[in-house]
Amino acid sequence: MIRIDILSVVPELLESPLNHSIVLRAKKKGLTEIYVHDLREYGKGNYRQIDDYCFGGDAGMVMMVEPVYRLISKLKDEREYDQIIYMSPEGERFSQKTANELSCLGNIIILCGHYKGIDHRIREHLITREISVGDYVLSGGEIPAAVVCDAIIRLIPGALTDETSALSDSFQDDLLAPPVYTRPADFNGWKVPDVLLSGNPKLIKEWQESESLERTRRLRPELLKD
Ligand code: SAH
Repeated sequence: MIRIDILSVVPELLESPLNHSIVLRAKKKGLTEIYVHDLREYGKGNYRQIDDYCFGGDAGMVMMVEPVYRLISKLKDEREYDQIIYMSPEGERFSQKTANELSCLGNIIILCGHYKGIDHRIREHLITREISVGDYVLSGGEIPAAVVCDAIIRLIPGALTDETSALSDSFQDDLLAPPVYTRPADFNGWKVPDVLLSGNPKLIKEWQESESLERTRRLRPELLKD
C-alpha cells in the first residue's frame, strides 16, 4: 500500500486524473490512498494568503514558506514519510526507473508549485527529492504530480487486471513495447502479422522480442547503449 499526499494551491486540477480508470480501481482495491491537500487552508491570515511578491523585484508571485511548512509538519507528525518530492522543471528527469523505485515506497508527499515557483527555503529544508517531467515549463506541478502518481500506481501488483502487463510495457527492460493488434485480422486489406494468428506461443514470443529490439534500435537507440 502506498500513501500519497499531494499539496497544491489548485487541488481541482487533480480531480479528474486521480479519480478514474486504473488509479480509481487501485484506490478501491486498497492498493493506494491519495490525499489531495489544499494549501490555502494553511494560508496566512483571514485571506489565507499563500503567495507573495518576489524579493529582488522580479515579476511573478512566489509560494510562501509558512503554509507549506505548516502542512508538511502536520503530516510528518502523523506518520513518517520516505520522500518529500517537489515537482520542478529543474529536478531529475522522471523515468520508468524512478516510477519503479517510488512504487516500492510506503508514504510520500508530492508538493506542486505554482506561479513563479516556491520560496527556495522550502527546497533547502523540507524537500528530499525534485522530479521533472521534461525540459519545458508548465503552469503548475499538478499535472506533473498526476503523471508521477499514474506511473507509480499502475506498477503496484494488482492495479492492472493482468498483472504481467506492466512488465511488458515500454521501458520496463529498456526496450520499447512490440506493436499490438486486435480484431479484425484483416481490415480493408490491412493485415495483422501472420505469426500473431499462428497460435504458436514460442513463435509469437520470438516475434515480439525481435520487434521490440528492432523498434528500440530504430526509434530510441540510446536506450540500448548501457
Ligand atoms: N519559474 C520556474 C517555473 C515555475 S512553473 C522556473 O523557471 O523554473 C510553476 C510550477 O510548475 C513549478 O513550481 C513546478 O512545481 C511546476 N512545473 C513546471 N514545469 C514543470 C516540469 N517540467 N516538471 C515538473 N514540475 C513542473
